[in-house]
Amino acid sequence: VAHDEVVRVVLVQQGVWEMPTESMPLAVGYLKAAVQADERLRWRTDVRIANYRGGVGLGHITDDLFRHGVPDVLAFSVLGWNYRTFGAVAETFKQLNPRGWVVFGGTHAAHQGERTFRMFPEVDVVVDGEGERVFTQLLHAHIDGADPRELVGIAGITYRTAAGERRTNPGDPPLRDLSLLPSPILTGAIGLERRDGSFPYDVALMETNRGCPYKCAFCYWGGATGQKVRAFPRERLRAELEEFGRRQVHTVVLCDANFGMLPADEQFVEDLLSIRGTYGYPRALETSWAKNKSETFYRIVREMKRSGLRSSFTLALQTLNESALERMHRRNMKLNDWEDLATWLAAEGLECYAELIWGAPGDTPEAFLEGYDRLAQTVSRVAVYPLLLLPNTDYHDKREDFGFVTVRGDHDDFQYVLAHDTMTAQDNQQMLRFIFWARALAENLVFRHLWVPLRVLGGVAQSQAIRSFADWVEASDAPAAVPLRAAVARFNVDPDALADVLVRVFGDPSTTALVRVWWDDALRPRLPPGAVPALDEVLRYDLLTLPVYRAPSAAGPEAEPLPVVEAHGDRWYVREDVGLTHDVPALVQALRRGEPMPSHPRPITRTLYYRLGFDDFARSTNHEEIAHYMGVTEQELDAAAARAAATPSPEAAAALARTSSC
Ligand code: SF4
Repeated sequence: VAHDEVVRVVLVQQGVWEMPTESMPLAVGYLKAAVQADERLRWRTDVRIANYRGGVGLGHITDDLFRHGVPDVLAFSVLGWNYRTFGAVAETFKQLNPRGWVVFGGTHAAHQGERTFRMFPEVDVVVDGEGERVFTQLLHAHIDGADPRELVGIAGITYRTAAGERRTNPGDPPLRDLSLLPSPILTGAIGLERRDGSFPYDVALMETNRGCPYKCAFCYWGGATGQKVRAFPRERLRAELEEFGRRQVHTVVLCDANFGMLPADEQFVEDLLSIRGTYGYPRALETSWAKNKSETFYRIVREMKRSGLRSSFTLALQTLNESALERMHRRNMKLNDWEDLATWLAAEGLECYAELIWGAPGDTPEAFLEGYDRLAQTVSRVAVYPLLLLPNTDYHDKREDFGFVTVRGDHDDFQYVLAHDTMTAQDNQQMLRFIFWARALAENLVFRHLWVPLRVLGGVAQSQAIRSFADWVEASDAPAAVPLRAAVARFNVDPDALADVLVRVFGDPSTTALVRVWWDDALRPRLPPGAVPALDEVLRYDLLTLPVYRAPSAAGPEAEPLPVVEAHGDRWYVREDVGLTHDVPALVQALRRGEPMPSHPRPITRTLYYRLGFDDFARSTNHEEIAHYMGVTEQELDAAAARAAATPSPEAAAALARTSSC
């Protein structure tokens, strides 16, 4: 490179979901900020971020990247869902610029040089750990005219020599002082506004720390970012929050492993609340809460509750099976402790859900379903994910010890587990079908009020109802069941399968009608006759309060015309004067609290409100988002606003109104 030439660098990132808005490109933002903070690189490089939504294809990406000139360095933040796409982009890039450098980094590529070079010979360098320091060194080497096959002096990379041999330079320990990393938010490395001045991303992403002290066998976090937890300075985090507050960003999502574990986390929430007091934003904080809850956690939650700051709380238990826990090197909270915690959160009026992984070595279908039903008794939602074998995890590195059999995705590079030494392929197939319907019906809230009355009044456990639906769909000859079966069949390797079914349930009346037929055919006959009228009405209420979905692509006939009103700072579709034979919301509340509640008819009339805007989220399979669009009664809406009005920020009314009653 001539001494006055500018090196053109493009940093590429792509989100997983096909969403209308982009995800904030935080990972490559850190790289860009680090490059711009380097005196020499600032003048000698021209760095651009190319950020793509999930679902954007290779044609668009290559056109966008190369139409206005071909860069000198193309660096990718690689994850399982974009590994193949980025490998294909690298192939095109090398045809256009054979002397250009291709750099792969991120958890799916790090320490995977052997496979990456085999699959994508166009890749020159794989970054094996934290990228900021390594990437700036790579650019210095590029400016100095280095050959990418002779990168002897750069720690933390894998590359190939001119003779084609793979070389790994051991990495430095993870950076201890994170204040040395410039903020991508405060330096302007990441664009924070569109032309019209609005915030361009679905949510704001932040890191308050890096690292995880645990080493669960299915997770790369401790390995990828280091087991020692290192925190960013408070003042810097406050300044980042202030930037989001000024820009009226609704939701901040933390990319932390264990929020609520460090005393600094309490200060972070304090700062967030004071900024919200000034600007009215941010209004919600989402994060992965620490799996073992400390006093700090309880204090944070109380403060968030007091001030009406929205969040959802996950009991990330993964499995309740002791043998599986042992093999994954994980210790959960004791059963009584998490039940107490869930009860405490419920008493505080806060939503809490649990997370399980099916398919861990040592688990069995019976033990898993028993754990699922136990959790379902305590929390309102149980999210279940099938086990993936991720690079840089203990399961991955010792796969022979566990006897894993896997298949890669059709479109992604994840390894989906088919069988292992304690799980047959047949057990797995059956459980995947269960998981599909558990995610659709329960986690994604097709049924919300139904589960507790079904268990208490009907004697049917949640897993039994879900399996009943799965079996019935499998055997049904109704035309509306055909696409559902097809989606189940490809669920194992296609994350979009679930979204395909959800848009049908939300937007296609023939699918909703199918649910009623299942109820009449398969479930109703199992119920005690005295409980049937009440349970019939709870089912009807759940279907009535599904979000209003108005996407042009929604299947089914013309949408029902509904008036739109303004209430509590938001816009709502309204269904007026809905008659119910039973007071379903009151019945469900009473049963959840374990209070006696007569299940005989008690007719009421309610007006139902549905937040506008669900069309953008119908395919999200994100129950936290879906929950905000469920129908609520006028009373629930007013109660949420009244609770918020008692808090210091008047803006919180709208935020609290987002919490649904489910
Ligand atoms: S699952 Fe959570 S606690 Fe376990 S290693 Fe990963 S981030 Fe850490």
